[in-house]
Amino acid sequence: MKWPDVDVISASLIEIGIPLKFSFATGHGTIRHRRTLLVRLETSAGEGVAECVALPEPGYSPETVDTSWEALTGRLLPALVGRRVGTPAEIRPWLDTFPDCRMAAAAVECALWDAYCRSLGQGLSQVIGGVRSETPAGVVVGIQPDTRRLIEKVEKEIADGYRRVKLKIMPGWDRKPVEAVREAFPSLDLAVDANGSYTLAEADALEALDAFGLSYIEQPLPAADLEGHAELQARLMSPICLDESIDSVARCRRALEIGAARVINIKIGRLGGIIPALEAHDLAVRHGAPVWCGGMLETGLGRAFNLALSALPNFTLPGDISSSSRYFERDIVIEPLEAIDGVMKLPDGPGSGVTVDWEFVSHLTHRKKSFH
Ligand code: MG
Repeated sequence: MKWPDVDVISASLIEIGIPLKFSFATGHGTIRHRRTLLVRLETSAGEGVAECVALPEPGYSPETVDTSWEALTGRLLPALVGRRVGTPAEIRPWLDTFPDCRMAAAAVECALWDAYCRSLGQGLSQVIGGVRSETPAGVVVGIQPDTRRLIEKVEKEIADGYRRVKLKIMPGWDRKPVEAVREAFPSLDLAVDANGSYTLAEADALEALDAFGLSYIEQPLPAADLEGHAELQARLMSPICLDESIDSVARCRRALEIGAARVINIKIGRLGGIIPALEAHDLAVRHGAPVWCGGMLETGLGRAFNLALSALPNFTLPGDISSSSRYFERDIVIEPLEAIDGVMKLPDGPGSGVTVDWEFVSHLTHRKKSFH
């Protein structure tokens, strides 16, 4: 069957809730329970499944599980069912007409990629130009009550083999924890993520971090302030990595052009799909900026798409992709996605490479809506 003749026959949106093994504190707040959305498409060429990575609460992004539910059930899925979709590249211009709900649009694009690649009998990574079968795994350590507990956490992650440790920081929790970790682990690949919690007036606290050989300082200033990041980057030796700011290909281009970042964190959901993620990757190549793949506390399903993306040539830094078992007692996919010696292997099946455990999903389901 040729892809230009493929129709979407039905679509389901399923909201599930999975308890996290630990509560996760960032500059935006604390998460204890991961609510997330699964998009399941039945096409005339087979099934495709993907995860919408929006978080339960706003903060990281105005897009949440609830706004994505509204966008998917109110606009995207009803318009998609019965539609002749073609390849993911052919449906992309239509998805670009939903700039206010990029995480929802990304989930639709990913589900179509899954169906498309499965019908070709190929892995997603292979189809989009991946060049490796594994990726070094990095972990994020949330804000801790004190430096003693922070050191214990970092020690455990290193013992588990992780290749890069990123500490969440915020004003008042920066120099002291970074200095303590650097002293304890002099050769560790160490980075920090502020989730936009600083202002330019607090640049001194960030300049003080230059002494600790950080791989990058991620998103120091609020997402909208690209010019501020360019000004700050000119004052810092440590590279700035942008995360929340990179919410479109155009913003990625602008950030690189004005020197607002020397490293880019690519997230499929934030950029609105795999195709914009590929465009951001290629832009970064042209600017000599390495990229890595960020995480959104995804289940194994979203994690599998991240792994496929991380196989692209310019993903030269360890991503925030770590073992599912760090987060969940039991994952919703059958294939174990676990780091071994600090390396995550790509699942090797067709499409996303993972199989959703629908029986388990049915136990976790909060609500479901289907379109025929
Ligand atoms: Mg981040």
